[in-house]
Amino acid sequence: MDTKTDIIIVGAGPVGLFTVFEAGLLGLECVLIDNLDKVGGQCSELYPGKPIYDIPGVPFQTAQEHVDALLEQIKPFNYQTYLNERVDSLEEINDDEVSSWKVTTSEGKVFVAKSLFIAAGAGSFEPRRPPNIEDPDKFLDKGIEYAVKDKDKYKNKNVIIFGGGDSALDWTVELADITKSLKLIHRRDAFRGVPNTEAQMRELVETGKVDLKTPFVIEKLIFDKQITGVTIKNFETKNLESLKCDEILFLFGLNKKLGPIVDWNLDLANKKISVDAEKFQTSRKGIFAVGDISDYPGKLDLILCGFHETTLAVQEAYRRSNPGKKVPFAYTTSNTKLQRKLKISE
Ligand SMILES: Cc1cc2nc3c(=O)[nH]c(=O)nc-3n(C[C@H](O)[C@H](O)[C@H](O)COP(=O)(O)OP(=O)(O)OC[C@H]3O[C@@H](n4cnc5c(N)ncnc54)[C@H](O)[C@@H]3O)c2cc1C
Repeated sequence: MDTKTDIIIVGAGPVGLFTVFEAGLLGLECVLIDNLDKVGGQCSELYPGKPIYDIPGVPFQTAQEHVDALLEQIKPFNYQTYLNERVDSLEEINDDEVSSWKVTTSEGKVFVAKSLFIAAGAGSFEPRRPPNIEDPDKFLDKGIEYAVKDKDKYKNKNVIIFGGGDSALDWTVELADITKSLKLIHRRDAFRGVPNTEAQMRELVETGKVDLKTPFVIEKLIFDKQITGVTIKNFETKNLESLKCDEILFLFGLNKKLGPIVDWNLDLANKKISVDAEKFQTSRKGIFAVGDISDYPGKLDLILCGFHETTLAVQEAYRRSNPGKKVPFAYTTSNTKLQRKLKISE
């Protein structure tokens, strides 16, 4: 069944999250959709531990702390989050004075709203596929994944993780306790992750909970109907080794792609979506582009610019959901409902 809401937000980065706040202040409901397995966009995916210094009034915050604070800030409002789903297709529905937008996700879910906010940053992050393996996607859900969607899937299984960044290290540490056996395979004995997580991984290797194999690269997959193992090649000696397993996680990081958005018949410029600098509306009425994905004269790819853009765009979304009504304006300092919900006393 179609899910109806006021605003569909494509992208749960900082700007998508803040859209929920601004919409909530006006009583609008939102659906947030992201193709990653977590919210936070670039902040959580690319630089969670790095400090941000230019959020007004917040002298210092790591990128992940910033995302956590945004999540806290939107707690009082009505919104639903759908992760691991890419928004693929778009259709206009002209059955009312104000038209609606219907989107369908990669998982086949359908959402309908008067306003569509594209807060897609640099586009959808797509997992990097293993090199030299032909069409690895045909084994998706048959022993291969590019992200951990459900931890329980790996309980009591023989699991192999490939990769050398944050994600590979994080999941090695996280899954070590529940798997039957866990191997971490990387092409060199140096990792690009947070030093503390690398230290935890090495401790697990010491205690025998993780088998670390370096310097190895993947040579080929071994399969029947399902993956049953993998052959790896020693990067230095070129010797081959075959390993049995039930599940493989390829955690090689992500590529950024504009993705399906290019087919949505929107005016584009510089691989971004052109908008006006008043409502941040695209060339199609009711579709707004906010945050890094938007392009207009003077645009800067900064979080605070995205916050400004979406605040103004939400005003127009209100008019679309409530035709003929004046957009209410009130300072949050006098919003007693919000204070009650956040349990803040004056
Ligand atoms: C290393 C680094 C340091 C930075 N430091 C700062 C700083 O100090 N201060 C600052 O202001 N900015 C900084 N930035 C920039 C800042 O991170 C971006 O401006 C900000 O993340 C943009 O937010 P956004 O919500 O527009 O997009 P993003 O954070 O890019 O999030 C977009 C989300 O949309 C999702 N998405 C895209 N297409 C689809 C689709 N079709 N379906 C579903 N989901 C989709 C993506 O998966 C992604 O999660 C930094 C960036 C980097 C890389």
